[in-house]
Amino acid sequence: MGGTIAMTPAAPNAPVRPGLDAHDLVAAAPGLADVADLWVENICNIPSPSITVAEVLSALDFARRSVAAGAVGVMLTHGTDNLEETAYLLDLLWDEEAPIVVTGAMRSAMMPGADGPANLLAAAITASSSLARGIGVLTCLNDTVHLAARVTKSSSMTMQAFESPGFSPVGRIVEGTLRRQWSPATQRPAALPVPTAGPIDVALLEAAFGEDGRLISTAHQAGYRGIVIAGSGVGHMSASAADAVSAAIADGVSVVVASRTASGGTATAIYGYPGSEADLIERGAVMAGDLSPRKARLLLHVLLSADRGADGISAEFNSRGRDCFPRA
Ligand code: ASP
Repeated sequence: MGGTIAMTPAAPNAPVRPGLDAHDLVAAAPGLADVADLWVENICNIPSPSITVAEVLSALDFARRSVAAGAVGVMLTHGTDNLEETAYLLDLLWDEEAPIVVTGAMRSAMMPGADGPANLLAAAITASSSLARGIGVLTCLNDTVHLAARVTKSSSMTMQAFESPGFSPVGRIVEGTLRRQWSPATQRPAALPVPTAGPIDVALLEAAFGEDGRLISTAHQAGYRGIVIAGSGVGHMSASAADAVSAAIADGVSVVVASRTASGGTATAIYGYPGSEADLIERGAVMAGDLSPRKARLLLHVLLSADRGADGISAEFNSRGRDCFPRA
């Protein structure tokens, strides 16, 4: 799908840009053919900040076709910047036991110590392992495997760039095999209806220090169907921002509040002042729990596209935001 893993410089020391296709990537990864028989396809070659729902739906189609044709697993190469979003959107829509493993690279293909080939090999090992079945979409970089529902890019520069804050990786590649670190005790939630490929109608804002609510009102006036606010602490914002939330909800906008902290998520009833989580719930906002603001935005988009009403939206956030694998 593109990203640094497929980027090369136009001239020595020039900035990198898309250059390699899927066949080039496979050819540069020695040992891949020993791990699996590969069916290779180019979906797109786009830097990940420009990936849209349309490309993710093409990837979903590729994954479905591959599994229907007998593939035990699917791997996707992708830019690391927005990799967590593509992985999570696919995870919401994926209903197969076979894993989709999303990988990429922090170093471009011509750099010394380029990590693309090793990541591709590790992703192939993961995608073909029986231990990766039934746990949805995974990410695999630097020999570390994470659940799409929890992973985030936590460093813009280092090779160990992906983490699941507050959770451990679900697996690691050790001596050429996948080792599972833990097993979800509960079953995966049902896949959600596939949204249209149109633009995402959910704004993502942060409750910054001194925010007076103008940004929320602006998103409200702009006509977004949903607004996700990365609240401070366990899901807080200023009293005036909370008033802007009330005005948006009164107009039928769905408002979800996540936490802008890296881990811990939102609460429901610890604080009761204006702009606190209990107050925002009272005003009709939904708490994202452990879902990051970025993942909450995608979940809200899929739910709004499926025309789930306020109760349906709140039920999905209450379960998916609380456990990796909510009880059925
Ligand atoms: N730095 C990014 C990457 O790792 C660029 C992108 O996300 O496409 O691929």
